[in-house]
Amino acid sequence: MPDHVHPPIPDDERVACEVCLKEIPRSEAAVAEVADYVAYFCGLDCYDKWQAKGKAQGRARVAPHRSTPG
Ligand SMILES: [Zn+2]
Repeated sequence: MPDHVHPPIPDDERVACEVCLKEIPRSEAAVAEVADYVAYFCGLDCYDKWQAKGKAQGRARVAPHRSTPG
């Protein structure tokens, strides 16, 4: 049994940025996986803001990644 299963979201699905709530295609979003959910960001700018906030809350540091380079 897998440790964690992600919900099946199509690649062209739009997701809301965790910080500014702007909608972006999931394939374009920066992604941070935390303990029990996945956070999406329109860019590393918002990711940095979120992480700065997360640090204050004692959240674990996670690295952003893009699903498809370029
Ligand atoms: Zn944003």
